[in-house]
Amino acid sequence: MDFDLSPELAALQLSVRRLAQDKVKPRARQIDTTGDYPTDLFEAFRDADLLGLCLPTELGGSDAGILGLTVAIEEVAKYSNAAALMLLLTRLPVGPVLIAGSDDQKKRYLPGIASGELRAGFGLSEAQAGSDVAGMRTRAVPEAGNDGAWILSGTKCWMSGVREADWYTVFAKTGDPASRAHDSITAFIVERAWDGVSVGRTDRKMGVHGVDTGELVLDQVRVPADNVIGEVGGFRLAMLGLNAMRPIVAARGIGLAEGALMYATEYVKQREAFGGTIADLQGIQWEIAKMAVDIEAARLLTYRSAWLADQGKFTKEYVPFLSMAKYFATELAVRASGLAVQLLGAAGYMEDHPTELWYRDARQLTIVEGTSQVQLGLIARGVLAHDLWWD
Ligand SMILES: Cc1cc2nc3c(=O)[nH]c(=O)nc-3n(C[C@H](O)[C@H](O)[C@H](O)COP(=O)(O)OP(=O)(O)OC[C@H]3O[C@@H](n4cnc5c(N)ncnc54)[C@H](O)[C@@H]3O)c2cc1C
Repeated sequence: MDFDLSPELAALQLSVRRLAQDKVKPRARQIDTTGDYPTDLFEAFRDADLLGLCLPTELGGSDAGILGLTVAIEEVAKYSNAAALMLLLTRLPVGPVLIAGSDDQKKRYLPGIASGELRAGFGLSEAQAGSDVAGMRTRAVPEAGNDGAWILSGTKCWMSGVREADWYTVFAKTGDPASRAHDSITAFIVERAWDGVSVGRTDRKMGVHGVDTGELVLDQVRVPADNVIGEVGGFRLAMLGLNAMRPIVAARGIGLAEGALMYATEYVKQREAFGGTIADLQGIQWEIAKMAVDIEAARLLTYRSAWLADQGKFTKEYVPFLSMAKYFATELAVRASGLAVQLLGAAGYMEDHPTELWYRDARQLTIVEGTSQVQLGLIARGVLAHDLWWD
């Protein structure tokens, strides 16, 4: 058992840490205030070859795997979760194509992600169907004639990066609309430029400003047969992509928690009170120590889950470990950012410090890509079925 990062991953971690300190940290507050998409950071990530970390070299990536992207996102999320989300979006919509897509789809849509020429979005959620994906209403019906094309209609919502994306991975019902069976749902690649594809309303949200979420409206969109990902009814296969995302979302949580703890610790060390500093108080020291323990535990869970994902270990005996990382690290981000606000007192509540921004940003993480309750359900299922370490 080796707990060290490989020399390549350690070098990646160091270079992204420097980039995050130099370029992301100074921009975080401005991105939050203006809500403008940070094109400069996207270009900085592109120039540092960070947009293809999860892609194989033959598709223009650097083959650093889920663990590589996890390590990179952790560094960026120490300062900005919006910037971390930009990196996450290099994998979320790409996952189903990598796992189940055809060679032609991979060649057409993935090298552009690595080079920064293309961006993508992931369309699963609908207004009435978030955790309960089987309730989706977006429909795909075979086009009249016999060329295998499909006509898609419906509205996806809360989609991250919807405005900037050039193509979308979209899930739609191809079976009976009333069916709750997973094989009634199929994944498609839909291009932004196609007739009938438009961006609807974008959301006014609490945090993670700068990367919009919003609606993707599909009005009788013709999707050629070549753009079906995997098999018709192959939703279960495409969902493997979401399992691979657990460590990547968790990385947004541990990075945010680390950033918040580092900031608050420096603050209490210089904040004078009672003839010393706030850091001299044992009650404060214990809070800092407990948070450091939790961050380390979250990092171990997350790195291991990234390693599992890179091994392709997605069967039921591994699913709970992936969910544990996502659950623990994102709940930790909420607690850590709350603690940071508290340790700064009134100052922590004000926009003069990044703590209130982290507090708002963290709240997203326990909701997206499987809420905490959904993750607990998956963990519980594994425990009850003795899929974990049971004698
Ligand atoms: C900022 C942001 C960005 C997003 N980006 C994307 C994106 O890019 N693409 C995309 O497709 N979606 C995206 N989403 C949507 C996100 O995936 C959904 O919000 C999430 O899946 C939860 O669905 P819901 O919001 O409908 O909540 P609901 O499913 O309505 O859940 C409401 C509450 O009930 C609980 N609950 C639900 N089911 C269970 C259960 N079985 N057991 C116990 N409790 C349960 C939930 O945990 C939650 O607390 C984004 C959301 C946000 C906030």
